[in-house]
Amino acid sequence: MQKKIKINYDLCRGCRRCEIACSWRQEGSVQLKRAKIKIKVKDQGATELPIFEQQCKIRPCTKETPRCVTACNFGALEFIEGGINND
Ligand code: SF4
Ligand code: SF4
Repeated sequence: MQKKIKINYDLCRGCRRCEIACSWRQEGSVQLKRAKIKIKVKDQGATELPIFEQQCKIRPCTKETPRCVTACNFGALEFIEGGINND
């Protein structure tokens, strides 16, 4: 079974390391607008939700553990069999 990224929403702290890591991988520099994962802020800043863009939902960028996952220090992102990006 293909591995995908599972989001554990309750563990996200909104640090944006995943955005930085993704943009660095894509662009070779920090350009958060180019990251394929975005942190959406809701409830007037009380809640942060990681959201993958369509390009990333279809297939993670690599068969190895993606950079966004390794960048997350809070366990909010897991690269596992049966994971479903954004679910
Ligand atoms: S899987 Fe790759 S392309 Fe998708 S958000 Fe993570 S680092 Fe970016
Ligand atoms: S998913 Fe992880 S790295 Fe990304 S903002 Fe949330 S806690 Fe930070």
